[in-house]
Amino acid sequence: MKVDAARSALNAVNPDVTIVAVHKRLEDFTVVESADVVLDCTDNFATRHAINRACVKHRKPLVSGAAIRFDAQLMVFDLRKPASACYACLFPEDAQVEEVQCSTMGVFAPLTGVIGAMQAMEALKLVAAIGESLDGRLMIFDAKSAEWRTVKVRKDPDCGVCGTK
Ligand SMILES: [Zn+2]
Repeated sequence: MKVDAARSALNAVNPDVTIVAVHKRLEDFTVVESADVVLDCTDNFATRHAINRACVKHRKPLVSGAAIRFDAQLMVFDLRKPASACYACLFPEDAQVEEVQCSTMGVFAPLTGVIGAMQAMEALKLVAAIGESLDGRLMIFDAKSAEWRTVKVRKDPDCGVCGTK
């Protein structure tokens, strides 16, 4: 199974790490409750929003990465902080978005490595409280031009998930 293969590969690199592989479709994301940090590496909006809701509910920092074709995004939502934006502040759940998945559109292979490594870096920084996280900033990478852009992201008081109004 995929999760067992992933566990074996990771333990080959670092045998001291205990990996709990969960081989089932996560419906309610209660697993988030016991996490220190959550990494979203999924490829569809329904799952991304479900993970975001769980992170808002349990106030867990969320490191979100996405890559499609030659474009990628990296975000941190430090939901331990009441003033931090959540994923839905940026991409509202009721927005009419065209689902574009890398499984159908393809992704420039090294790009997933770039974004994955940066997600790991932000996750480790959050867990170890090192430096300044990417909370409140969206990093956008254009692989074709090799250019990074950073956009500030603010909490939406009218957000349907984390909003206070
Ligand atoms: Zn929100």
